Amino acid sequence: MAYDTGNVFAKILRGEMPCHKVFEDESTLAFMDIMPQAEGHTLVVPKAKAEDLFDLTPDALAATIATTQKIARAVKKATEAPGIMIAQLNGADAGQTVFHIHFHIIPRWSGIDLRLHARGMEAPEKLAAMAEKIRAAIA
Ligand code: 5GP
Repeated sequence: MAYDTGNVFAKILRGEMPCHKVFEDESTLAFMDIMPQAEGHTLVVPKAKAEDLFDLTPDALAATIATTQKIARAVKKATEAPGIMIAQLNGADAGQTVFHIHFHIIPRWSGIDLRLHARGMEAPEKLAAMAEKIRAAIA
């Protein structure tokens, strides 16, 4: 399948749609998931146009996973979560719903189940407050 430039993350990267940004460098962007599966659920995307893991160059992948590690550390600090789950889905059959590769950073607490995937919008003010906490934890 050819990369669809109309996907929501492509629009966010082009500045055509807003996001609660936590970090940006020359090759990656990290922002809050608007339908978080847990408090602090953050997404990391490469700026390169790539639908999934198999479509990304090794260099872009290296940059994206390095940002994922950096932001996961900040998410852990900001949320004080004892566990951090990293997820990355390839293809609709794997549950992928946005076809621009991304890594999910999801804080985990034992006994607290994940909320359903890509359902239930979070209040914008809660996302803004969490993004601010994560940005502060990066510094
Ligand atoms: P996937 O199913 O492709 O692995 O994950 C896509 C993720 O993007 C889901 O967790 C979903 O909640 C999130 N998402 C969908 N639309 C938007 C959006 O417009 N903005 C943001 N920030 N996240 C989105």
